[in-house]
Amino acid sequence: MRYIRDIDKIPGIPDSDRAMLKKVAERYVFRVNDYYLGLIDWNDPDDPIRQLIIPRVEELSEFGALDASNEEAVTVARGVQHKYPHTVLLLCNEICGAYCRYCFRKRLFMDENDEVTNDVSEGLAYIAGNPEITNVLLTGGDPLLMSTRRIVEILSALRDIPHVEIIRIGSKMPAFDPWRLTDDPELQEAMRRFSTPQKRIYLMAHFDHPRELTDAAVAGIDCFVRNGVICLNQCPLIRGINDDPEVLATLYRRLSYIGCPPYYLFQGRPTAGNEPYELPLVRSFEIFTEALRHGSGLARRARFVMSHETGKIEVLAIDERHIYVRYHRAKNPADRGRFMMYKRDDQAGWLDDLEPVDGFGAVDVGAEPVCAVADGAD
Ligand code: SF4
Repeated sequence: MRYIRDIDKIPGIPDSDRAMLKKVAERYVFRVNDYYLGLIDWNDPDDPIRQLIIPRVEELSEFGALDASNEEAVTVARGVQHKYPHTVLLLCNEICGAYCRYCFRKRLFMDENDEVTNDVSEGLAYIAGNPEITNVLLTGGDPLLMSTRRIVEILSALRDIPHVEIIRIGSKMPAFDPWRLTDDPELQEAMRRFSTPQKRIYLMAHFDHPRELTDAAVAGIDCFVRNGVICLNQCPLIRGINDDPEVLATLYRRLSYIGCPPYYLFQGRPTAGNEPYELPLVRSFEIFTEALRHGSGLARRARFVMSHETGKIEVLAIDERHIYVRYHRAKNPADRGRFMMYKRDDQAGWLDDLEPVDGFGAVDVGAEPVCAVADGAD
């Protein structure tokens, strides 16, 4: 795979845009590969793959925060996030196959950031010492960009911890470089070895648009399925990429056909640089519900959520006056399953922009995660 970091090496970008886009790429890292670049229709200025990967000058507008859901507050050691009792995130790699312009973790790719560690020994010791942790998500960056040797080391160490049941791998490599899955027999062997009948490995794939589901990408998913991995998809709803009910419905339908049905759809967090990719919450919910109408039962299992600082908040319904939400996962045990009501605001993009209905909406941002209290699995 040939990687490209230089805007000048992309012929499809008009000369008049280059200088400004280089400035954007200096602020928020840019990298793409020739396969993914080849999916762009350069005759279409609104091409969704282009929007996903090519910088836009609007990214420089003042907006949001680099750590919009305050992941720092739940970081218990370098590269280790523990927000919900049974689940730990290991941020084990700080690069991705390419860089999605709307990434909510773009801070990790900045030079001064040191939240990710290649040495996961501290994280493994933390997991081993906390028996309530049954569920580990390998994330980053993209774990499948690590060498197979490192992946095997981490999976092996996790499988040596008896209370770890589920291992999830969050990856966009099936979209960016599906040959990473199909062309590495050692990786496939590792999946067969560590995804056991009693304790499965889950691939949390990240397809945003049906055009990413090329024959090669479908073969990538098929390869992992045949090697014992359960595949699910999660992605954000992004302006200009999948903010069309038909596009989302097609994505969901095809994902469910290939054995990688949708799991979460995320409302974009107010992350710095992401203004051009954000949608109002009400519009997002309309797109989501319309898309589900056209999906099979499997495609309809998706939940539309906000990954808020205080927990994962599912949007349940919206009527003329109100927005109804519920904690699907809560940092504070007292919030578990809590139902909340907010005044409808068609411009608001995030929970914090909404006005609660008296007695139904206060969130406790300062709450400490209480990780020793029993909770349902993810
Ligand atoms: S693959 Fe995920 S972590 Fe990597 S740039 Fe895209 S959204 Fe960010």
